[in-house]
Amino acid sequence: MDQPSEEPTEQPRPATLDVIITDPDIVERRATDLTDQTMRFRSWIKSECMMPDDELDGLVAATARYMAGVIDCRKCGRCCTLPSIGVNEADSARLARRLGMSQAAFGRKYVTVYEAEEGITGPCPFLKDLSCKVYEDRPDTCRGFPYLEAPGFRRRMLMLLSASFYCPLVFNTLEALKRRLPWRAKRRRSR
Ligand code: SF4
Ligand code: SF4
Repeated sequence: MDQPSEEPTEQPRPATLDVIITDPDIVERRATDLTDQTMRFRSWIKSECMMPDDELDGLVAATARYMAGVIDCRKCGRCCTLPSIGVNEADSARLARRLGMSQAAFGRKYVTVYEAEEGITGPCPFLKDLSCKVYEDRPDTCRGFPYLEAPGFRRRMLMLLSASFYCPLVFNTLEALKRRLPWRAKRRRSR
């Protein structure tokens, strides 16, 4: 007897853009020009947008996956040049092992405390010619960044807004969401 087929889970359609900016220098300039607008978008998302959290997270994740198909992190590396790249104990142990040094020596050489959290002192010393030389053993934070597919987009918007100044993935995802969601129309109606 045939097994009953499972209902396919409908994937949200990603928000898209006609023009996707991949150059991080141009992203920085555009994000700076759009700061006020993006702040207004954040306010709308937090207090007026009626879309449920899980639906919004699904749309953001689908859009981020779409953008990741267009934007090549190997031609950017901006997130590897931040002043601090978070590391936890397991990251330090793994990286120390890879580099053939004790964890204590790794800490002395590479790690500083930044705003109460430990981080590799940036720009990351493991970035060479836009390539991560410890890729398989990179810190968890590098694996997850920029966290566009993680739940909680609504409450993490401030962090994403600040990342939009240097990360093409975040910038273009936010711009695509601005165009997809009805926030502009809502703003005009409320005048
Ligand atoms: S460990 Fe690799 S991915 Fe992480 S910041 Fe350094 S170069 Fe970038
Ligand atoms: S995650 Fe963002 S900042 Fe980091 S390399 Fe990819 S596009 Fe660049």
